[in-house]
Amino acid sequence: MLEIQEVNAGYGRLHVLFDINTKMRDNDITVIVGPNGSGKSTLLKTIMGITQVYSGKILFNGTNILGLPPHLVTRLGIAYLPQVDNIFANLKVKENLLMAGYTLGRDEAKERAKEVLGDFPDLNKYMGRTASMLSGGERQMLAMAMAMMRRPKIMLFDEPTGSLAPKIAFEVLNKIVKLRDDYGVTLVLAEQNVRSALEQGDEAILLVSGRVMFEGNAQELLKHPELGEVYLGIKKT
Ligand code: ADP
Ligand code: MG
Repeated sequence: MLEIQEVNAGYGRLHVLFDINTKMRDNDITVIVGPNGSGKSTLLKTIMGITQVYSGKILFNGTNILGLPPHLVTRLGIAYLPQVDNIFANLKVKENLLMAGYTLGRDEAKERAKEVLGDFPDLNKYMGRTASMLSGGERQMLAMAMAMMRRPKIMLFDEPTGSLAPKIAFEVLNKIVKLRDDYGVTLVLAEQNVRSALEQGDEAILLVSGRVMFEGNAQELLKHPELGEVYLGIKKT
């Protein structure tokens, strides 16, 4: 479990997150939603140790991970998939997978790549292709496969379906749900495609101007009489 306690964070003098208290439970999909600029990406980056934290604690299974550099956070089993630059565009798909598993050693990385490709069978077709040639959806699948090379306990996704066509976004979201179901990965998604993410998610956090406005059941937020419409542009149907 990931617990965020009284966290204040930002970039130098720009204070972005205010007194954040929240939990991401094991095996849940927690969806972080909120208007543009409300601090969703900053919250994910703060967990990874790439923002400035003024105060607070971040506990991963009870241990404070605040202040750890990103590579050590990764090594504890927390994977971060940024919105852009989440693959090595100049390398081939196969090289991307092996790079992602470089800490495993060569033989184990190859073995793990085989396992991971079982979950992302479409990537088999593209193994020799340069990653920059992939479509948006294929790139996102590759980024997920790369993260799975290290068998993470938690995956933090920044807008995984952000720039994708609806059908592809749906496939990516389904794949994310499957990672939870098949591997028990705890998932945290910062999302713009609010409706489908909240439909698929377990818990939701609504951030507004760097503060938590709502925390609770994802479908409850979707049905909320005001919050959804005011902050997320969800129209009543
Ligand atoms: P969201 O992901 O919800 O759209 P962000 O977390 O990206 O919001 O941004 C929150 C605030 O932090 C915004 O005011 C944004 O301009 C600022 N910000 C984001 N990234 C940086 C950065 N690297 N340096 C300085 N300010 C940043
Ligand atoms: Mg963002």
